[in-house]
Amino acid sequence: MDFQLTEEQTMIYEYGAKLAQTYDRAYWLEQAKEGKYLDEMWLQMGQDGFLGLMVEEKYGGAGLGIFELALLMEGMGNAGIATLMLLAGPAMFITPIAKHGTPEQRAFYLPDACAGKTRSAFMITEPDAGTNSMRIKTFAKRDGDGFLLNGSKMFITGADIADHALLVARTTTLDQVERKTDGFTLFLLDMKSPGIQMTPIEIGITAPETQYMVYFDNVKLGAEHVLGEVDKGFQLLFDSLNPERILIAGMNTGFGRYALDKAVSYANERKIFEAPIGAYQGVQHPLAIAKTEIELASLMMRKAAWMFDQGINCGGESNMAKYAAAEAAIKAVDAAIQTHGGNGFTKEYGIFDLYPLVRLSRTAPINREIVLSFISEHVMGLPRSY
Ligand SMILES: Cc1cc2nc3c(=O)[nH]c(=O)nc-3n(C[C@H](O)[C@H](O)[C@H](O)COP(=O)(O)OP(=O)(O)OC[C@H]3O[C@@H](n4cnc5c(N)ncnc54)[C@H](O)[C@@H]3O)c2cc1C
Repeated sequence: MDFQLTEEQTMIYEYGAKLAQTYDRAYWLEQAKEGKYLDEMWLQMGQDGFLGLMVEEKYGGAGLGIFELALLMEGMGNAGIATLMLLAGPAMFITPIAKHGTPEQRAFYLPDACAGKTRSAFMITEPDAGTNSMRIKTFAKRDGDGFLLNGSKMFITGADIADHALLVARTTTLDQVERKTDGFTLFLLDMKSPGIQMTPIEIGITAPETQYMVYFDNVKLGAEHVLGEVDKGFQLLFDSLNPERILIAGMNTGFGRYALDKAVSYANERKIFEAPIGAYQGVQHPLAIAKTEIELASLMMRKAAWMFDQGINCGGESNMAKYAAAEAAIKAVDAAIQTHGGNGFTKEYGIFDLYPLVRLSRTAPINREIVLSFISEHVMGLPRSY
């Protein structure tokens, strides 16, 4: 196995640092605090060709894999500027269309999405069916050649700034299906469709994206909005969920490194006794442990991404990478806060701002307990627990 990145992969990994020369963490925070998205940065990424990394060149992409997309996310995290819209867009919308869309759907959605001219959201969570997606109630009822959509979705990141969404709805109710994973359909939703309403949910995280409750009241969908086959959407979903876990791992290993870099430079400069605080083992060791765990998580993320690109089942590795990266990033940011003393909590140093976002990753997009149950069952052969 070769651990050396190619020249192209190195360029992708380093793109975040380059992007941050114009759109740095201060810009990221300023936009977040004003409740605005990173519009200019997103467009720049599209123009530079980084949003369609996994899409064929004929649709405006680069023809690469999730490995490269994860490197992009990780590199942006290293610079403190990763965005959740990279999950909802390239991982959860663009890639499934590139893989499972009809030629018409690819031609319609991909070029603008790759160019950064459009953005997308991902919609599965519902108020009464969080972790248990089998129980979602949002229903698309047959209506002539198309469907009428009714229901609601919760915690939808970037619903306000998305042009489209990949929506998971039931087209057959749970009590009518043989297997509970049957009866789901994936829809490519136009967010300007009549009948869609949304209200923001106030979240205690400093981030440029906002979460929404989204309501559907007789929203008309055509056959052209179905991705894949009616009632067979759940099978396709795994092509989005493993990439999502891999990318969230990349965001966390990146943010963890960003926090540790800050902590190291602070610890080397801050002197309140004889030596800089970084000379004390009590300060060094938590940072060294966090650094070790971040790099281990990054390795597992790269392995999961490589497996996905080879067409090898990477469910176990993706979940392990997601778990390890979230836990490592929480530890890294906590150690960085402690190293900064009181300054760990000031707006000026911006360290505490990182904590809610990395802590989110223990819960979303998939919570730690379900990840561990998946590993217990599917990797280790323990009985199913839920
Ligand atoms: C900031 C943010 C952004 C989000 N963005 C999106 C988005 O863009 N699109 C989208 O569809 N969703 C999104 N979500 C939703 C997110 O994926 C869910 O919040 C998450 O999956 C957990 O679901 P829940 O909140 O309903 O918790 P619940 O399902 O109610 O679970 C609560 C807790 O119970 C425990 N638990 C649940 N089931 C089990 C079990 N079987 N075994 C052991 N423990 C269990 C876990 O600890 C879990 O955290 C977002 C959420 C947040 C907070």
